[in-house]
Amino acid sequence: MNRPNIVIVGAGYGGIMTAVNLQKQVSPEEANITLVNKNDYHYQTTWLHENAAGTLHHDRTRIAIKDVVDFNKINFVQDTVESIDPKSKTVKLEDGELSYDYLVIGLGFESATFGIEGLEEYAYSIQNINSARLIRDHIEYNFAQYNLEKEERQDLITIVVGGAGFTGIEFVAEVANRIPELCQEYDVPREKVRLLNVEGGPTALAGFDPELVEYAMNRLEEKGVEFRLGTMIKKCNEEGIIVEKDEEQEEIKSKNVIWAAGVTGNSIVQESGFEVNRGRVPVRDDLRTPDYDDVFVVGDCAVIMNPDSERPYPPTAQIAIQMADTTAHNLKQLINGNDKLESFQPNIQGTVASLGYTDAIGVVFDDTKLYGRSASIMKKAIDNRYLLKLGGVGLLLKKGKLDMYH
Ligand code: FAD
Ligand code: NAD
Repeated sequence: MNRPNIVIVGAGYGGIMTAVNLQKQVSPEEANITLVNKNDYHYQTTWLHENAAGTLHHDRTRIAIKDVVDFNKINFVQDTVESIDPKSKTVKLEDGELSYDYLVIGLGFESATFGIEGLEEYAYSIQNINSARLIRDHIEYNFAQYNLEKEERQDLITIVVGGAGFTGIEFVAEVANRIPELCQEYDVPREKVRLLNVEGGPTALAGFDPELVEYAMNRLEEKGVEFRLGTMIKKCNEEGIIVEKDEEQEEIKSKNVIWAAGVTGNSIVQESGFEVNRGRVPVRDDLRTPDYDDVFVVGDCAVIMNPDSERPYPPTAQIAIQMADTTAHNLKQLINGNDKLESFQPNIQGTVASLGYTDAIGVVFDDTKLYGRSASIMKKAIDNRYLLKLGGVGLLLKKGKLDMYH
């Protein structure tokens, strides 16, 4: 193969880190590398809940691709992928077509609504910069509207978050911190505002350390969060949501319903005919798809099993970044004519969830539990380490969370 074409689709954690690794390891004489992304920026999905709550501006979260990718080494195409044809080795874009010798799919996640009626139409979800910005503005608009109504409209200042997984809990924590500011800005009495977190399972953060879950729930309840555990969201409509607990249904009126109760792989992958398991490709050990030797999948479009628990690893940025290292290494092997590929071994260094800017919970390294300020410092250190890996000290200084104590 003469100077193979490597195409990377999606510049999330997995895609952009594959590109950044390749630009260090592969010279333009060895391969022609193209990165395709919808926007001219990469964003840190792990900060989107802060943008959605309005506690962090989205310009802190997004990073211009030109600032981290060397366009002398990598062709950047700003376009939207419509489909992939692995048989003819082509990627169909909104505005053209690309052919590849090797493809890396890093198109990320989509919100999963499990067919629940009305969610697509009436609920919001945290998926990207545009949707996060919309949630922030939508909540703010409803607070602004509240004092213009002749009759009291509780639904305008009731915020419902569906799901108490990590996304739901992190978002609810940010909203709880934002509410006092919104109340002051729009002259809304704090005691009138309701913030509910509705979770179908018996506990928040199922499977996480119970002591830390209790800490998080206590801290959030102190800030006014009402937890509804064991309560399934059944329906969403213009008025709000219908929930069910112990076979009893209840309507909660709210103009601010944010669905944070699950994600799946980008539907383009399934629609393009790749084998999927609940929307994600069950990749081989070397991160290639089961059927195609020239297609790698990184990040949330891939699923890998944890042999200890016999369950899939939860999709995380941590795993996506590590997958990018293995994928870049394996691509380098292939273009050098060496088919001895590395097996991907996730190195889970822990899980830390933020509860606002100065509070967090986490289990790191060998089961060390952290909460409060120390966990929050750890969370910022993890995020800062990523920025350093992606774009060096310059990017860290520009976008990092450098104020560890506030
Ligand atoms: P994504 O980050 O999903 O990015 C996909 C990219 O592809 C985007 O740039 C998008 O614009 C682009 N794209 C999508 N469709 C197209 C298309 N059709 N054409 C062109 N481009 C396209 N994980 C952790 O490890 N730690 C955390 O603290 C953490 N916090 C989180 C907080 C929130 C609020 C959320 C929602 C998730 C969090 N996660 C966290 C999970 C983590 O964000 C995901 O696992 C991670 O983002 C997956 O990375 P990815 O590379 O698969 O793609
Ligand atoms: P999740 O699947 O982890 O949690 C979804 C929650 O919604 C579950 O608790 C589920 O019981 C609940 N739920 C589902 N249907 C419901 C219904 N009809 N009514 C009420 N509740 C319902 O999803 P997530 O929180 O979006 O997380 C997605 C991935 O991102 C996970 O892998 C997670 O680990 C990762 N993530 C990690 C972090 C972190 O490490 N700090 C933060 C956010 C997300």
